[in-house]
Amino acid sequence: MDRKELADLIFPDIKDVSYYEEKYPERELKEGAQVVRVAPSPTGFIHVGGIFQGLIAKKIAKQTNGIFFVRIEDTDQKRKIENGTEEILNAYKDYDLYPDETVGKGNYGPYIQSERKEIYKAYAKKLVEEGNAYPCFCSTEELDKIRENQTKAQERTGYFGKWAKCRNMPVDMAIEKIKNGDPYIVRFKSPGNPDKKIKIKDVIKGGIDMPENDQDIVIIKSDGLPTYHFAHAIDDHLMHTTLVTRSDEWLSSVPLHIQLFQVLGFKVPKFAHTAPLEKAEAESRRKLSKRKDPEAAVSYYTEEGIPKEALKEYLMNIANSNFEIWRKQNPDKDMMEDFEFNLNKMGVSGALFDTVKLLDVAKGVISRFTAQEVYDFAYTWAERYDQELKEMLDNKEYSLKVLGIERENAKPRKDISKWSEVKDNISYMYKDKFANVKDFEYQKITDKDEIKKIVTEYINNYYSINDDKQTWFDKMKDLAEKLGYAREVKEYKSNPEDYKGHVGDISTVIRITLTGRANTPDLYEIMQVLGEKEVKERLS
Ligand code: GLU
Repeated sequence: MDRKELADLIFPDIKDVSYYEEKYPERELKEGAQVVRVAPSPTGFIHVGGIFQGLIAKKIAKQTNGIFFVRIEDTDQKRKIENGTEEILNAYKDYDLYPDETVGKGNYGPYIQSERKEIYKAYAKKLVEEGNAYPCFCSTEELDKIRENQTKAQERTGYFGKWAKCRNMPVDMAIEKIKNGDPYIVRFKSPGNPDKKIKIKDVIKGGIDMPENDQDIVIIKSDGLPTYHFAHAIDDHLMHTTLVTRSDEWLSSVPLHIQLFQVLGFKVPKFAHTAPLEKAEAESRRKLSKRKDPEAAVSYYTEEGIPKEALKEYLMNIANSNFEIWRKQNPDKDMMEDFEFNLNKMGVSGALFDTVKLLDVAKGVISRFTAQEVYDFAYTWAERYDQELKEMLDNKEYSLKVLGIERENAKPRKDISKWSEVKDNISYMYKDKFANVKDFEYQKITDKDEIKKIVTEYINNYYSINDDKQTWFDKMKDLAEKLGYAREVKEYKSNPEDYKGHVGDISTVIRITLTGRANTPDLYEIMQVLGEKEVKERLS
C-alpha cells in the first residue's frame, strides 16, 4: 500500500493544490512593491501593538505601491470570541489603517483562517503523499510519557527524531489504524538537523544563526484546523506576501517556518521582526502588558479621548526616531503620504512606550487642529463619555469661539492633550460653570481693598468691548500708572522701590477675577469672547 492511499484516506474529496495555485496567481505589482500583512487573532483584546503593526505594514505598502492586507488567524477556537474580527477591523478603520484586502474584500481570500480549512488540507495531503507528513496516533498520555523520559534523560522536549514514535510507522499500519477508527492528528516530518545552523536574514534584526528545526510539529489538529505555523506558510504563500512584519516573539519559530516554506516548495518571504513596546518600571523595562497597563488596550485611547492622529504620530516616532525631526520641519504634511519610513531604522530591542511623551505629541497634534476640528472631535467624544461637556458644547457658536482662542495662527495654544481635558480647560468660559468657582487665588496682589480698587477703576474708566488689542493693552498700562504701578515690567525691574508693582500684576488681578485662574490663553481674546455683559458682571 502506498502513501497516496494513506493521503486519500485522511483527506478524501480534497482538491489538488494545483487548483489553489491557479486560483491565486502571482500578483501584478510594480517592481519593488511589497505585500505586507498583519495577522491578528480575534481574542477580543486589541493591543496598541496591533495598531503599531498595522501602521508599519500600511506605511510600507503605501510607500512601495504594494498591498496591505489583514488576515484573521482564528485557528485557536478556544481563544476566539464573538465579534472579535469585527472589533479588529473597526479598530483599523477608526485609525485610518483599513487594509486594501481583508475579510469581505480582495481576491486572495478567504482572509479568515477558519474558512480556509479545505486549502490547508490540500497542502497537508500533498505532504502526506510525498512522505513529508504523517498521521500521529500518540495519545496525550503517551506524549506526557515521552516528555517525562526526555526530562529524565536531560534531553530537549518535543516530538522529534527517535522520540517521534509515529514518524516511521509503516504506511499499511497507519492505514489500518485509521480504518480502525483510532484517533490521530497530522504531523510534519521535519528534515532538519539541529546540529546544523541556518542563517536567517531579518530586515530589522540583521543576520542571525539558529539551529535547524527538527520538531515534527502538528500541522492539522484533531478538529481539522491547521496549527498557526502551517497556516502561516500556506496563507503567506497563496496571498503572495513578500514581507512578513510581525512581533519578535515569533523570531524563534523562523527556522521552522523557513523549513515549512521550503518543503512545501514555496518562495520564502522576507521577515522583519519588530521589538515589543515596553514600559519603564523602576530601573528596568518590561513588555507593555495587557494585564497591568491600561494603555496597552486600544480602547484606552478612545476612552481618554486621545486623538488617533496623536497615537499614530507617537507610534511613528517609536518606529523611526528621525520622524520627530521630520515632523518639526513639516508640520502640515501627511506622514502617511510624505514621510520616508525605513524598516532598517527600527530598534532591534524593546521600544519605550511613554504615555507622558505621547500626551506631549498629542498636544502638538491638537494645536494644529482648527477650532471646528477640535469642536467636532471633542463633541463626538463627549457624546459618549461626558454629558456635561456635551451640554456645554451644545452651545455651538459660542463654543467655537472659546475653542478658537489662540488657534489657527502661527503659534497656536498647546494646552490640550486629550478630549477628556477639554471640559476643565474651558469650563470658566461658561457662565454656570464659572458660578461654581469659589476660590480665587490671587497671587502677588492679595489685599482685598487693592483688588477692589483695581477692578472698579478698570471697569468704570478703562474697559470697552470695542477696543482693539493695542488700545486694550495701552489702557491696562494707563490703569497701572494711575494706581502707582509701572507701565512696563522692565521699568519696574530697574526701579522696584518706585512702584507698587507692574502692569502684569494688574492684568493678573483682572484675569483671575474674570476666570478664577492665573494661567489662561490670551486675556484680550477671552474678554472678547465673554462679551461685555459677562465681563462686567464678573468684574462687579
Ligand atoms: N496570529 C499571530 C498573532 O496573533 C500572528 C503572527 C504572524 O504575524 O505571523 O500574533
